[in-house]
Amino acid sequence: MADRQLLRKIPKMDELIQNDMINALQQKVGRDTLLDVIRQIIDELRQAILKNEPGFIPEEELEIQAIVNKVQQKIEQICEIQIRKVMNGTGVILHTNLGRSPLGEYTKDVLQEIAGGYSNLELDLNTGKRGSRYQHMKELLLKLTGAEDAIVVNNNAGAVLLVLSAVAKGKEVIISRGELVEIGGSFRVPEVMEQSGSKLVEVGATNKCYLKDYEKAITDETGTLMKVHRSNFKLLGFTHDTTLEELMQLSEERQIPVINDLGSGLFMDLQPYGYPYEPTVQEVVASGCDIVTFSGDKLLGGTQAGIIVGKATWIKKIASHPLTRALRVDKLTLCALEATLKQYLHPQKALQQIPTVRMMTISPDELEKKAQSFKHFLPEEIKGLRISVEKSYSQVGGGAYPGHEMESRSISFRGNEETTTQLERYLRTGKPAIMGRLSEGAYFLDVRTIFESDFSVIVKRLNDWTQRSDPR
Ligand SMILES: *Cc1c(COP(=O)(O)O)cnc(C)c1O
Repeated sequence: MADRQLLRKIPKMDELIQNDMINALQQKVGRDTLLDVIRQIIDELRQAILKNEPGFIPEEELEIQAIVNKVQQKIEQICEIQIRKVMNGTGVILHTNLGRSPLGEYTKDVLQEIAGGYSNLELDLNTGKRGSRYQHMKELLLKLTGAEDAIVVNNNAGAVLLVLSAVAKGKEVIISRGELVEIGGSFRVPEVMEQSGSKLVEVGATNKCYLKDYEKAITDETGTLMKVHRSNFKLLGFTHDTTLEELMQLSEERQIPVINDLGSGLFMDLQPYGYPYEPTVQEVVASGCDIVTFSGDKLLGGTQAGIIVGKATWIKKIASHPLTRALRVDKLTLCALEATLKQYLHPQKALQQIPTVRMMTISPDELEKKAQSFKHFLPEEIKGLRISVEKSYSQVGGGAYPGHEMESRSISFRGNEETTTQLERYLRTGKPAIMGRLSEGAYFLDVRTIFESDFSVIVKRLNDWTQRSDPR
């Protein structure tokens, strides 16, 4: 039975809005929002009393002060920006759930300047006439990739959809069965092709595809030959791929364009840093490939974007397609990308200053030093968990270099499994959020993906945790 008497004790709306503390909250949110919040809280209390046995809601919870506190808390929560800073101790550099590439200092400075004001986004300052938003980074992209022309859209999935729509609508697209991949659960090559109005022609077998397979599939309806980077998986064992060079020969003989979706878009050879061979964008362009697409926020280390480079006639056709307008990039994207790309003019700078590239190329020795300097600020143990520096392995993530593991260093917390689970939860749900890795009962923070400037904050959060009596 509901406690009717208790219901009557819920303060009235009038009474609450006259409260000084509640009134003061109108500085934070407007009156309408404030009233909504109060109504919601009163309603929740009423429902809780109606649905439960007497005593479920203690009488103190109905006192004005208790309700004022609840209103204050709720308003604070509403006013808080929901996208929060996360410190990444997972060791996965391109973590799509964590926003992929962090931007470097220079890029942040440029963004700060442009974001809060007007810019020459679509204005040619020399003539005073209308300009193109795609012009600003075009020269830079041409210089860096060697392509004839370039355009940038919202993301690489959009770039592939746009390219296929502009180049192959109503025509056949020949692609190897081994490259009909799914990336990130929502981008499947066959489905994107269908959306673009082009017709998929699969050739070869999953593990083997020869040039003759493409050759046999060419008809009068063929619009393009396509190559897609497998990105998030590796084909091992009894396999054969047709190389881009072979495809380019066929393309020349039969006068059919080739599209290559590179996925990540690498600008630098990373083999000196222990990575397996991957073709760079420059190499693919130099092979004569007609259209090349790649992401802005994967290995390149910039912001979310889809970059399309290639032969001028095709890029012109793509630029005038109506989807280009629908996939248009904002000034913040263009700005962040231009600033990131500028650093590639000096590869040594790119290595040092683009966080993604830096994290990919930092050596185990440097990581050891980084881990020891972090460890220096930490006690030997907290809440019975032993803290040490351990060798670990991190990954690039974001579908790049699948299966490739880089030697790294982690701060480990070993001991009672219940305690490590509590630690993981405490760090993940607090502010700023800290993401680590639980493995076989121990907790790990991989220092590869943690910024040195964040060490002190993590130390403070760990200290706060040890001082809590509530285990969570
Ligand atoms: C990641 C990826 C995409 C999608 O790129 P987004 O920028 O995330 O839209 C498309 N193709 C390949 C091969 C990829 O690796």
